[in-house]
Amino acid sequence: MPGAPPVSRQPDSSTPPRRHRGLHLHRDRPKPGPAPLMTQHILIIGAGIIGTALADRLAPHTRVTIIDSHQPGQGTTATSLAWLNANKTLDPDYFAFRQDALAEWARLAAELGHPSWYVPAGNMTWAQTDTTRTELAQRVERLRARGYAARLITPSEARAIEPALTIPAGALIAHFPEEGFIHGTQAIQALMDRAHNAGAQLITQDPVANLLRHGDRVTGVRLESGADIAADVTVCAAGWRTPEILATADLTIPLLDVHAPGSAAPCLVAATTPASGVLRGLIHAPGVYARPAWDGGLLLEASDLDAKIDMNTPMPTLQSQAEEFLDRARSIIPALTQAHIAQARRCIRPMPLDGLPLIGWHLPRLYVAATHSGITSPHTLPNSPPVGSRPVATSTSSLPTGPTGPYIAPSQVRRWKLHETLST
Ligand SMILES: Cc1cc2nc3c(=O)[nH]c(=O)nc-3n(C[C@H](O)[C@H](O)[C@H](O)COP(=O)(O)OP(=O)(O)OC[C@H]3O[C@@H](n4cnc5c(N)ncnc54)[C@H](O)[C@@H]3O)c2cc1C
Repeated sequence: MPGAPPVSRQPDSSTPPRRHRGLHLHRDRPKPGPAPLMTQHILIIGAGIIGTALADRLAPHTRVTIIDSHQPGQGTTATSLAWLNANKTLDPDYFAFRQDALAEWARLAAELGHPSWYVPAGNMTWAQTDTTRTELAQRVERLRARGYAARLITPSEARAIEPALTIPAGALIAHFPEEGFIHGTQAIQALMDRAHNAGAQLITQDPVANLLRHGDRVTGVRLESGADIAADVTVCAAGWRTPEILATADLTIPLLDVHAPGSAAPCLVAATTPASGVLRGLIHAPGVYARPAWDGGLLLEASDLDAKIDMNTPMPTLQSQAEEFLDRARSIIPALTQAHIAQARRCIRPMPLDGLPLIGWHLPRLYVAATHSGITSPHTLPNSPPVGSRPVATSTSSLPTGPTGPYIAPSQVRRWKLHETLST
């Protein structure tokens, strides 16, 4: 987007912060909008981007309760780079799924009046070695052939898009103008507010202790406070903690073990002190990724350094890694000279073993959604509990029992193959 104006990162005055604390036993206002299509109670575990987006879609149509062990938007979503893209996705079905998701974000943002937490300001990357130049050129070609906005650009075009960047001479530069990012916590706040206004109840600071399972049926959850909550459908959207919740009902899911030595799930994200205006969109430079943070600093990530991060990495090591991120960022954004590291934070990615989303019906009344592309694709969960114009079940017995049934992978773990889900 040559000449695009800097994107505002000020909080939305139109969506004042709202607190949802404790157990809301009664809806405090009637539901606006269309009459409920059904009266099922859908209970969602986890107010991250996945759970909140689902609550937002379901609440106008049915009774929804969403439970979080903390407050909405404090899990992985809060620390995510949150790049909205289908950039490196080779699998054609997964690519189509992510493209649909990008369109859905744009539609939702328009519906919400183009909130400042949605930043479709493009993504720039470049390559310097022979191998990476070839990969980048091929990727741009492949994406263009699929109708995705991608192009190789000249250094002067790059300067017009991101004036504060110093890109090494001779680099091959690519730009993806329709990509962008969200500010995850603010997006969750907005979706949670809308779901709440549509009647969704929110329970916070009372973790789900276990699923209530009777034979093949999950009938709700027990909270750590001891309260049981019954539901017609339970949705587990607890991010990287999904396996421990499923384990309470003797169920498994093939997510990376976050505690295993060398696990790729834990990683580091650093935020700088305010450096307003230095970047408009995302950059994926060799050695460091960056994008504007909500409070005016930059969010930094460097995937090659993630291998050194695990669940036990001490804070001084996290801090020194974050300084390394900043050094790398300064080498391409000289305006960061005065910036410092404001925060170094360990983040934990929900990582399916084979990289594809784990989304679908685990049991007839238990829907699970765990994916690493959760920011890109929270609105397009395949075969999710019935909403809107989809066929609506009139009784719990007619709820979908699963797209093709759980798939038994070669490793003998239960999972859902996305392309099978989508082909139903
Ligand atoms: C550094 C980093 C960069 C990333 N970059 C991208 C990217 O560029 N693009 C992209 O699409 N994705 C990216 N991801 C992945 C993406 O952030 C995640 O897929 C997404 O945030 C997951 O959302 P979620 O709602 O599933 O989980 P979360 O946001 O973690 O939400 C889960 C919620 O469940 C709650 N919970 C957990 N246990 C319980 C319990 N027992 N009872 C009640 N509540 C519970 C938690 O408190 C939390 O609020 C990135 C992740 C990281 C860490």
